[in-house]
Amino acid sequence: MDLKGLKITVIGAGIGGLAAALALRRFGASVTVLEQAEAITEVGAGLQITPNGVHVMKALGLADDLAWSAQRARAVVLRGHRRGNQVLRLDLDEYAAGLPYYFVHRSDLIGILAGAARREGVQVRLLQRVDRVQPGPQPLVHLVNGAQCGGDLLVGADGLHSKTRVALNGERKPFFTGQVAWRAIVPNHLKLPPEAQVFMGPGRHLVAYPLRDGSLVNLVAVQERRAWAEEGWNFKDDPANLRAAFAGFGGTAAALLETVEEVLLWGLFRHPVADRWHGEHIAILGDAAHPTLPFMAQGANLALEDAWVLARSLQEAAGMSSGLAMYQARRRERAQNVVQAASRNAWKYHLRAPLSWPAHQVLKLGGRFAPDRMVSQFDWIYRHDVTA
Ligand SMILES: Cc1cc2nc3c(=O)[nH]c(=O)nc-3n(C[C@H](O)[C@H](O)[C@H](O)COP(=O)(O)OP(=O)(O)OC[C@H]3O[C@@H](n4cnc5c(N)ncnc54)[C@H](O)[C@@H]3O)c2cc1C
Repeated sequence: MDLKGLKITVIGAGIGGLAAALALRRFGASVTVLEQAEAITEVGAGLQITPNGVHVMKALGLADDLAWSAQRARAVVLRGHRRGNQVLRLDLDEYAAGLPYYFVHRSDLIGILAGAARREGVQVRLLQRVDRVQPGPQPLVHLVNGAQCGGDLLVGADGLHSKTRVALNGERKPFFTGQVAWRAIVPNHLKLPPEAQVFMGPGRHLVAYPLRDGSLVNLVAVQERRAWAEEGWNFKDDPANLRAAFAGFGGTAAALLETVEEVLLWGLFRHPVADRWHGEHIAILGDAAHPTLPFMAQGANLALEDAWVLARSLQEAAGMSSGLAMYQARRRERAQNVVQAASRNAWKYHLRAPLSWPAHQVLKLGGRFAPDRMVSQFDWIYRHDVTA
C-alpha cells in the first residue's frame, strides 16, 4: 500500500509513538503526534536497549546517535546482596559481537527519536491531552480541551493507561503483583564499569548500571511486599523508605543506596496483553498493547519492534485492513511470550534461604561450564530482528 498522502495521527510521544511516527513518515505518510506533556525530553531514567531494539534503531538510521549517547553494556553480573560477591557473570561482548546492547537515559533516546521525526517533517504537538478515542470508519480523538482530531489512521501509543486500548478492548483491570520498584539516578562516585550489577536478596533485588558518559548510575530496586503502590512513572517517595527496605544489603549496593537523594516508586501490575490491536482505521502499540514487567528489560524494545512492524506491514499489504491484520498477526504472539517470560523471571532474583544458596551454586556452575548456554537461552528475545 502506498502510504504517500495518508494522514496519520499518533497519540503519545513516547518511544513507541515517536519511532512509529518516524517509520511511517519515512514510508511517505503525513504524521502528527499528539502528546499530553509540555516537554518530551526531560522525563524518565535508564532503559536497556537490547540488540533486538538496536536493529530497529539501525533501520531508522539512528544507530550512531544511540551509540553516541549511550553506554555500551559489557556484562550482566549477578551478585549476592550482603557483600556483593559475584555469583554469575554473563559476558555481553562475546555474545553480542556486532550486536550491541546499550544502557541509555530515556530522555536521550526520546530526544534522538523526536529530533529525527521533526527533521523528517513529523508534527509533534505538545499539551494535547486525549480524553477519549472513538473507533469506527472515521475514528476521532477527543482532546480534553474540547478539540477533535481525525485522520486516515489513528495510532494509540499512549502507554500504560492507554485510552486507545480501552476504546478497542474495553476496560480490563490489571492486578497488583505484590512487588514495587523504586528508581533513582545517582552520581557514579564508585566508578562502576559499563555492566549491569544485579544484587539479589531475599524478596528483593537491586539493579545498577551507568548512564550517559558513565558519570551517572541508574538504580532500580524491586521489593516484594503486600502494601500496594500506585502504577505510574512520577510518584515520589522518601529515599529513607528505599534504604529501609534494602537494609540488609552491604558493599557496593549499600554505598549506592546511601547516595540516593530523590526516588520514584511504582507499583508493578500485570496487565493482560490486549486481544485487539487494531480496528478499521486504528491500531495500538507498545505499552498501550502489552505493558510488561521490567524483568527482561523489554518495554522499550518491544515498542520499537511494534513501531517498525506496523509501518512495514502497512507498506507491504494491499490495503489498510489487511496491513493492520498483518501487524497484529506478526506481533501479538511474540509480545505475549516476552511479557510471560518477564513475569516468570522476578522470583529467580528473590530466593530466600535455604533455596538461595543451592540456586546460586547452580548459577556459578552454569557460568563456569556452560557460559554460552546461560546467555543463549534468551536468544529468541535478544537476537530477534524484525527488520530482517
Ligand atoms: C514519564 C515516563 C517516564 C518513564 N520512565 C521510565 C524509566 O525510567 N525506566 C523504564 O524502564 N521505563 C520508563 N518509562 C516507560 C517506558 O518508556 C515504556 O515502558 C516503553 O518505552 C514503552 O514505550 P511506549 O511508547 O509504549 O510508552 P511510553 O514511553 O509510556 O509513552 C507513552 C506516551 O503517551 C503519552 N500519553 C499517555 N496518555 C496520553 C493522553 N491521554 N494524551 C496524550 N498523550 C498521552 C505519555 O505522556 C507518553 O509520552 C517511562 C514512561 C513515561 C511516560
